[in-house]
Amino acid sequence: MVNDTTRLLGLDGLVAERVELDVTGVPVVDLSTGCEQARCCPQCGQRALKVKQWTTTRPRDLPVGGRTVRLRWRKRRWYCPTPACPRKSFTEQVAQVPARARLTSRLRQAAGAAVADAGRTIVQAARDHGISWPVVAAAFTAHASAVLPAEPEPVAVLGIDEVRRGKPHWIWNAHAGSWTVTADRWHVGFCDLSGGQGLLAQVEGRTTAAVTGWLTARPPAWREQVQAVAIDMCTVFKSAIRQVLPHAVLVVDHFHIVQLANRAVTEVRRRMTLTQRGRRGRGSDPE
Ligand SMILES: [Zn+2]
Repeated sequence: MVNDTTRLLGLDGLVAERVELDVTGVPVVDLSTGCEQARCCPQCGQRALKVKQWTTTRPRDLPVGGRTVRLRWRKRRWYCPTPACPRKSFTEQVAQVPARARLTSRLRQAAGAAVADAGRTIVQAARDHGISWPVVAAAFTAHASAVLPAEPEPVAVLGIDEVRRGKPHWIWNAHAGSWTVTADRWHVGFCDLSGGQGLLAQVEGRTTAAVTGWLTARPPAWREQVQAVAIDMCTVFKSAIRQVLPHAVLVVDHFHIVQLANRAVTEVRRRMTLTQRGRRGRGSDPE
């Protein structure tokens, strides 16, 4: 049953029956089911006896030996043998090609890892693997949630800042007669400034509620061990921290102080130039 092509392809539970080249020279691999488990109802676990119909699925897969291959898996839809089972029928599935999957699990994992571990953008990973942006985005989310801890480790110094991301999206709310924002371009990032955890979270919006929402979702013990919070001089963040982390010392990082001081000096310089010379600075003489 197990032939060389099956071993080379390495898709557990699937047998390579033959390989043909299509008109463009791309190998097309005809697959059959080689796993008894695929014949058991996913709901009740009973082994099916009666075939309902045959179907063909063409999941995308990783290249083999650097070449794109096309998979063509002819599989059965079975009647469940248990009369009381709510699942009347089911199609065969294997771990690498779950029911209704349009790509193999290993292709999905490779696309997610390309973004998470290899630092590819979602656009690049989608192009490299020949799949769409939303599929790669979902694969990345699945990859990240499997490896990230559910809760961050303790953080002594927490950093909070706003991040501008993408474009805002609006929808027309006919009931209220106004436009409402459905995706905010402003996000709030939380990071670990004293430890090595880096970015802990990024939440949409830049309101007090966005900050308090993420912080109150953490366990009380986690919030208590935060000793200091570094923010820009934004009153929204300040009031959020005062509500949720009243014990923490508020710190303004020196980048934002220098930025504010520079802006003040610039304003004074512009005003003085205007009142003394009656004009703005020039390219050759910016004052
Ligand atoms: Zn069943």
